[in-house]
Amino acid sequence: MPTAAKRPIHSLLLDEIENHLATLNERPYRAKQIVDWLYEKRVGSFDDMSDLPQALRQRLADEFGFGNLETVRVLGSKDTTRKFLFRLSDGSLIESVLIPASPALYGERSDRRTICVSTQVGCAYGCKFCASGLDGFSRNLDASEIVQQLLGVEKATGERIDNVVFMGMGEPLANFTNVVRAIRIINAPWGLEIGARHITVSTSGLAPQIKKLADEPIQSRLAISLHGATDQVRDRIMPVNRKYNLTTLLAACDYHASRKKQRIYFEYILIADVNDSEEQAHLLAGHARRIGARINLIPYNTVEGLEWSRPSREKQERFLSIVRGHGVVATLRREKGHDIEAACGQLRLQTKRAEENALI
Ligand code: SAH
Ligand code: SF4
Repeated sequence: MPTAAKRPIHSLLLDEIENHLATLNERPYRAKQIVDWLYEKRVGSFDDMSDLPQALRQRLADEFGFGNLETVRVLGSKDTTRKFLFRLSDGSLIESVLIPASPALYGERSDRRTICVSTQVGCAYGCKFCASGLDGFSRNLDASEIVQQLLGVEKATGERIDNVVFMGMGEPLANFTNVVRAIRIINAPWGLEIGARHITVSTSGLAPQIKKLADEPIQSRLAISLHGATDQVRDRIMPVNRKYNLTTLLAACDYHASRKKQRIYFEYILIADVNDSEEQAHLLAGHARRIGARINLIPYNTVEGLEWSRPSREKQERFLSIVRGHGVVATLRREKGHDIEAACGQLRLQTKRAEENALI
């Protein structure tokens, strides 16, 4: 839990602020003033909310915290992927990634700036290829800590974010309530005003929560980290598959597809000699066709200390063309700057280890 006992103001919805103000006998329009200060003018304290009476500012400051993230490191430059390492109020480290114009990635083909946000400190799901899972799970982020990653990156870069993917550290659907709350704030006209179609939640396959998300009145997009087209392959690299196998997962995807207009995306990291066979490509395409999903193929990013590697370019292209041969819409990420573009979780792990070493 965050050390500050005060509830962070960036985790409240507008009607909650209104209700709270009512208990203080304040007029409802004050709530709108407050969210304007938070999400339009982006002030860093209640004291800066100059059109609120001094007594109210004090009262709010007594009850709510701001919990700004401290920017520890930024890697990368304007035209490339940039990584932001943030320290939370309890000292935990998380990272966000800002991805520049990326045709046909998660949003529409355009020059959108996409932020990849973290939802937990560490991850309990322990996928064998992933840096985020290496150090285990510490805690969930609260909604404010998720929202503030957007505010922090926009402040540091002076650029506006127009696409959000929940693909940083952590399993978003294992932190369901806070993630849904953060999506509401990110999506709200009084909040960050990013369209739900530009918000994508990624999951390693928590089938019951996928169904629960399908029942929520939000139109965000869903990405499934599939990484294997059979139980045999998924069992080897993703322990979650032993709990929710492929049949269960695909049934949950069906349910989601039946409740939402949004198309599902299958994320598929290509790992040499693990999931890159032609047979997997055919089976993957079959699953995608049945569900109406699109496929994003991602060459594996090497993680220090892990044995996996990406297949050759030729093999990647071959996999892509087999999938496309089935009439499925698929993309293959062909990014440069392998070192900085490394998947979320790696920068944090590096820094954490360096700090630990410095202490020894
Ligand atoms: N826990 C969620 C969201 C965070 S992971 C999930 O698993 O979907 C975000 C994406 O990065 C996932 O698709 C994950 O499989 C992928 N990923 C993890 N490690 C990677 C690596 N070393 N190279 C490429 N992608 C990786
Ligand atoms: Fe967790 Fe996702 Fe990494 Fe798996 S891939 S360990 S679920 S963050």
